[in-house]
Amino acid sequence: MVLKRITENVFCILGGEKRINTGFVIGKNGVLVIDSTFSPEDAKKVLKQIRSVTRKPIRYLFNTHHHSDHTFGNQVFSTKVVAHRECKNIMTKLLEREWSRDSIQKYVEENPEWKEKLNNLKITLPDLVFDDSLEIDLGNLKINLIHMGGHTKDTSIAHIASSKVLFAGDLIFQGRYPFMRDGNSQRWLFALKKIRDLDFDVLVPGHGYLCDKREVEHHIGYFENLLENCKKFIQENLSSDQIAKRNEFTRFARRNVDRHEENIKKVCSELIQM
Ligand SMILES: [Zn+2]
Repeated sequence: MVLKRITENVFCILGGEKRINTGFVIGKNGVLVIDSTFSPEDAKKVLKQIRSVTRKPIRYLFNTHHHSDHTFGNQVFSTKVVAHRECKNIMTKLLEREWSRDSIQKYVEENPEWKEKLNNLKITLPDLVFDDSLEIDLGNLKINLIHMGGHTKDTSIAHIASSKVLFAGDLIFQGRYPFMRDGNSQRWLFALKKIRDLDFDVLVPGHGYLCDKREVEHHIGYFENLLENCKKFIQENLSSDQIAKRNEFTRFARRNVDRHEENIKKVCSELIQM
């Protein structure tokens, strides 16, 4: 975990468990934290990093979306958890199935390396929800939480216009192929174009290193190329397995290369269903 000061009041912590990034913003009246990592144990380390910089109260924890590597540390911050309305809905449903006590127990048995870290897990839902956007005022500093969708239905971003910093959640997987299983490529592309129009110098991705608008352009290029080629090959009656092997797709990143074929198949299934 590496703490980085981006501006006077905006910090990020890169590389928690599952390589997830978190961040925090310090205002006159307190702190807003962005995402909480995959385990209470890891979240405690985030809290320690925050406390190495400020003693101000943590007023809000913002979940960019429901995925477990962004929300399972929520309980540690003992504060108001804010997220898109759909984030709370999805988490509520997951608690009945994939995230039930029995399912988590089974996960821990199959993945013993997480046993200790998830031992005291108490999945904590958002209690302040928004629909399109929400402005959080920390006294001298405003943070705009904006719903985007794309990576998941509930994906939202945090834009601190006065500091020119954007926390993009998992809409940006810097240096790696994006994880599309719960997403929608056209909605994702739409979100990326909206992000491109915002004013910022530094972008904190959900995973990977700090970047800027060039990474947004890379992602736009990747999704446009995916959609264009998948459409073309579907019209030529190729199967999604055959399409996934074609070389016409943009070589996008070095990490998570196995995801590339999954992504092609995902886009094909979206297009065939249309
Ligand atoms: Zn995610």
